[in-house]
Amino acid sequence: MSAPAAHRVIAIDGPAASGKSSVARELAQRLGFVYVNSGAMYRAMTWHVLERGVATDDSDAIEQLAERAVIDCQLRGHHSLMLIDGINPEPFLREDRVNDNVSRVSSVPRLREILVDHLRRYASENDLVMEGRDIGSVVFPETPYKFYIDASPDIRASRRAAQGQHDRIAARDQADSSRRASPLIIAEDAQVIDSSHLTIDGVVGEIIGRLKLKGLTSAS
Ligand code: C5P
Repeated sequence: MSAPAAHRVIAIDGPAASGKSSVARELAQRLGFVYVNSGAMYRAMTWHVLERGVATDDSDAIEQLAERAVIDCQLRGHHSLMLIDGINPEPFLREDRVNDNVSRVSSVPRLREILVDHLRRYASENDLVMEGRDIGSVVFPETPYKFYIDASPDIRASRRAAQGQHDRIAARDQADSSRRASPLIIAEDAQVIDSSHLTIDGVVGEIIGRLKLKGLTSAS
């Protein structure tokens, strides 16, 4: 169990293409909080595994590579950024090969532990909006601000297609929900918002309304 975060954390979880990234980014901006995209960190590690020629089904080798990697988590303005061995992998995070392998690499428990340590450190100095799959359930289970953004499978698939991306989101969701280590679940105390027929602004407005009811308005 982790120690309570020093700063406020708004956890935004949900399946692929549910709209959570756009929502989390916009919400962070409106509140003056730092935006942390945990999926980008799992993608970055996947890119690193692929670049090093490590087989994505070899969990021992992935574990060793993750242990050796020099991970440097920073902020660029109000956004998280992770360098691995001094390299910024951001331009490569949406490559097809990363989409195809990220769920498998993310299922390695030791790799998750390493990234979760880094994710928690962001909250020692900043108020955060953090998006992912297990933020409310595992990374910051004590936060009172937990949201789960969902949308129908058809709508999510059409959103990805509109972005011109080859991304088998149904397969990723299946893998993310069924893995043993920190699967994608709706945390017991999370508030679920269906974004299927809402705009980004609509979802953000809904969240801000619910946060106000809990007494959270903006950066302190
Ligand atoms: O959020 P995004 O779709 O970019 O995440 C990519 C992948 O990273 C997910 O499909 C999942 O396998 C992994 N992930 C995770 N835990 C998180 C965030 C992402 O396992 N907190």
